[in-house]
Amino acid sequence: MQKEILGCTKCRLAESRTQAVPGVGPQNTQLVIIGEAPGRQEDLQGEPFVGAAGQLLTKMLENAGIKRETVFITNTVKCRPPENRQPFADEREACYPYLLRQLDLIQPKVIALVGRVPAETILETTIRMGTMHGKTMERLGRTYFVMFHPAAGLYNQNLVPDMEADMHVLKRLLDEGTAFGPEKSQQDLSRFF
Ligand code: SF4
Repeated sequence: MQKEILGCTKCRLAESRTQAVPGVGPQNTQLVIIGEAPGRQEDLQGEPFVGAAGQLLTKMLENAGIKRETVFITNTVKCRPPENRQPFADEREACYPYLLRQLDLIQPKVIALVGRVPAETILETTIRMGTMHGKTMERLGRTYFVMFHPAAGLYNQNLVPDMEADMHVLKRLLDEGTAFGPEKSQQDLSRFF
């Protein structure tokens, strides 16, 4: 699928990207994290969450006892929108089949939706992050966990304690098996693509 995404021209974001960013991490994982879209650094480096927001995400994962390299991380759309605008509905729709195929292949125990864009795209409902963050939702046999996007914590430090608390809830979900789905070993760190 990586080659397909890297060569994809299904929406206008192909025209302005440096490269598509399919996602990174092991296929055999309990946790998939889905953000909004690649930013400038991600577009340049070809990996999701490598800028300042990504560094905060990595730190919060590690503080909660989750090693970033055991998580598959991707975005709702695989190409950077110009000027970091939000991806338009038709762009999200065009890219959605890739995300579904990734989730079908991985079958994670929990899918963390970081930010309103992935949450609204996948849950197909209006999301108020102030009340929905830290909550688990089950849909079509999958368990989703809604979280603030780490960029929100960079802009508003007051959100960081809530974000850290949510990360610990996520760790408990992974540990306690309260989410449903096949048990997955985190030992196999073979790369996804
Ligand atoms: S955002 Fe998705 S659908 Fe659009 S060109 Fe990139 S990979 Fe293709």
